[in-house]
Amino acid sequence: PVQASEMEKLPQLDAELADEMRKLEQMFWIDQQKLKEIVKQFEVELDEGLKENNKNIPMNITWVLGQPHGDEKGSFLTVDLGGTNLRVCWITLPGARGQPSIVQEKYQLSKEVKTGTADQLWDEVADRMATFIRDKRLDETSTQPLPLGFTFSYPAMQDFIDHGVLQTWTKGWDVKGVEGEDVTIQLRKAMEKRNLPVKLVAFINDTTGAMIASAYHDPETIVGAIFGTGCNAAYMEDSDCIPKIKGRLPQGSPVAINCEYGAFDNSHRVLPMTKYDKIVDAESPRPGEQAFEKTSAGLYLGEIFRLVLVDLANRNLIFKGQDISRLDKSYILDTGFLSAVEDDQSPRLQDTAASFEVHTGILLNDQERQVVRRVTELIAIRGARLCACGIAAICSKKKITHGHVAADGSVANKHPKFKRRWADALGEILDWQDGRTEDPIVLTSAEDGSGIGAAVIVAMTLERASKGED
Ligand code: BGC
Ligand code: MG
Repeated sequence: PVQASEMEKLPQLDAELADEMRKLEQMFWIDQQKLKEIVKQFEVELDEGLKENNKNIPMNITWVLGQPHGDEKGSFLTVDLGGTNLRVCWITLPGARGQPSIVQEKYQLSKEVKTGTADQLWDEVADRMATFIRDKRLDETSTQPLPLGFTFSYPAMQDFIDHGVLQTWTKGWDVKGVEGEDVTIQLRKAMEKRNLPVKLVAFINDTTGAMIASAYHDPETIVGAIFGTGCNAAYMEDSDCIPKIKGRLPQGSPVAINCEYGAFDNSHRVLPMTKYDKIVDAESPRPGEQAFEKTSAGLYLGEIFRLVLVDLANRNLIFKGQDISRLDKSYILDTGFLSAVEDDQSPRLQDTAASFEVHTGILLNDQERQVVRRVTELIAIRGARLCACGIAAICSKKKITHGHVAADGSVANKHPKFKRRWADALGEILDWQDGRTEDPIVLTSAEDGSGIGAAVIVAMTLERASKGED
């Protein structure tokens, strides 16, 4: 599975290290048969999730009823609470599938906010909104409250489109006092304290936003997916196929489902778990949760890579005589680093060595440069192949044979080789013919889901309300 061409000029690995690399290759390689086995179990969990009393992946109902028609119009406030940033936008949809205009600000979220208290978090969000509304003079645009689409990239159970109860934090977040609570009530309180002229109209997952934003321009869109810090997807389901909301929607209504499939295989039936995956899980704030996400999403790839290297170093196979104390710190290497390693075309991988030194203080010899490159590839290839499984399961369950998977996230859009690897794995799972001229299911770059997508969903929701369809 590993391409060696860029490394050709480096001397061959010593026997001991070569042997170790072969073991790692075996440990991280997922062959076609295993992919198919994973997808089969994945389909079972997708189905189970739509039923009452399900204990597997949540398959959350979003109450987004159907794809946009493209003529949605108006100006909307959107707030995106993602894994790393808070983004506030003012978005105007011109109608007729026209190009939306966006005014936006982005704020980094501190570690304190991500692991603090509910009050701290919502005060931070509402303060940023207040500043944004004042600076952009949005309160002068209308006497009506500004309609808000709130994108929240965590699993939430929704009984209505403008409510959502956080099921569990993911992606390393650990804010006290929010799990099991209605997130929209907490945000509304913080907004009321500041007298913000805002009405929360729609509460949205980032995957749903990605699907709707993309479908607004591209009717071929079948799925909205995030391959980023976390991983997840949303698709359009038929209300008749969702036993857990039987009777709540007219027969045959399309409704978007946020799969929350980062939680796939939490019961460990099928995913191959290396000893490194077990450490990642055990040391996370929520052990036992998000099993699939922890093997495939960006937040964890760098950490798995770091754990492999630390293990090799502790066994005195690499970094002999060097101080590895900086490498001993969790989560110091992110997907950006792994992408750069895989992008490295420099002679003798000197760029990789330079970057590794900056991050860890460790100098790489010729052997170690190859180890770094190959371990990076193994982990990224496994991640991409696993990412294909979730989408394959949705397509196979819904008998979708062609269309666009609108994807967002750092792994999908910044990793140089992700798309090709993902598509190859999808082809292996769905038995696409070798030598095909084009893939029937294609990964596309999603439009701005938490901005445009959220705005379109607010417009759709207000339109429904004005027609009295609830
Ligand atoms: C969250 C999902 C989200 C995904 C991508 C996961 O950790 O549970 O709600 O869609 O990350 O951001
Ligand atoms: Mg995001």
